[in-house]
Amino acid sequence: MIDLHTHTDQSDGSWSPERLVEEAARRGIEAFAITDHDTLAGYDRAAGPARACGLDLVCGIEVSTVLVRRQGSPIKNVHVLAYFLDGSVPEDFRSWLDAIRAGRRNRNQRLADRLQSVGLDVKTEEAEALGRTVTGRPHFARLLVQKGFVASVQEAFDRFLSDSAEAFVPRRVPSLEEAAGQIHAGGGIAVLAHPARIAGEDREQLEKLVEASVEQGIQGLEVFHSDHTEADCRELRGLASAFDLAVTGGSDFHGDAKPGVELGTGLNNNLSIPREVLERLREKPT
Ligand code: AMP
Ligand code: FE
Ligand code: FE
Ligand code: ZN
Repeated sequence: MIDLHTHTDQSDGSWSPERLVEEAARRGIEAFAITDHDTLAGYDRAAGPARACGLDLVCGIEVSTVLVRRQGSPIKNVHVLAYFLDGSVPEDFRSWLDAIRAGRRNRNQRLADRLQSVGLDVKTEEAEALGRTVTGRPHFARLLVQKGFVASVQEAFDRFLSDSAEAFVPRRVPSLEEAAGQIHAGGGIAVLAHPARIAGEDREQLEKLVEASVEQGIQGLEVFHSDHTEADCRELRGLASAFDLAVTGGSDFHGDAKPGVELGTGLNNNLSIPREVLERLREKPT
């Protein structure tokens, strides 16, 4: 069993990189990737401990992008996974991530101001204290719960933080084309994350999404994912083969931050990704 999509507390997961390695080894996971949002800090910290216990740890990342299409409106919140299969990430790519994180800090400041202006007393530093390397809206959501302004993280998003809510503040998000270009230049492989979550039930939309993503540099599809139904997986496998794309899969584990999703086995045991998926990925010329 392998798991190519996990988050640590360096982004919005709740487990430390060390704990993730320990648990992966305990559960007999043969290989896994850390794919934190916008930071390699979790991978960098886990690499030593993983090597020490003979775990095959893959270097990865997840970046939010906007898919600008030739036809039709842009699609927001398109997540791209990158895998650096030889474990090395050049400085240029790291600097690109630094700039994205700087954009986040700037947004977080404006978001705190905006929340203040709607009567919620929160400070950027308080949200940042809940995060490590990357502080995002999920940390603001947890803070609003802690302070008793809302009853749940979901209520925090629905009322204040979601893209259509009262206190929403945008940040500069790279286009999918820019992200894929940076990933290729850095020697990585660019994979469209949880495509069915973006396209929903509409099969025609899914195909259009994949086609447009491929035009802009996507080289693989996340076929297996906790959110995907069996029908989604079948459909995505077909699209991967039609467009000659690599196939990946993972749980999108976030620890306690996403209850119900387990490392390796996904949501209610809906995942069991064989090792060959990673072997094929390593064989595939990019
Ligand atoms: P950020 O990158 O800091 O803008 O935060 C994006 C993250 O917030 C996503 O990856 C989700 O985990 C979470 N998120 C965004 N919108 C919602 C929503 N409507 N409901 C719940 N979580 C959301
Ligand atoms: Fe996340
Ligand atoms: Fe994602
Ligand atoms: Zn993820």
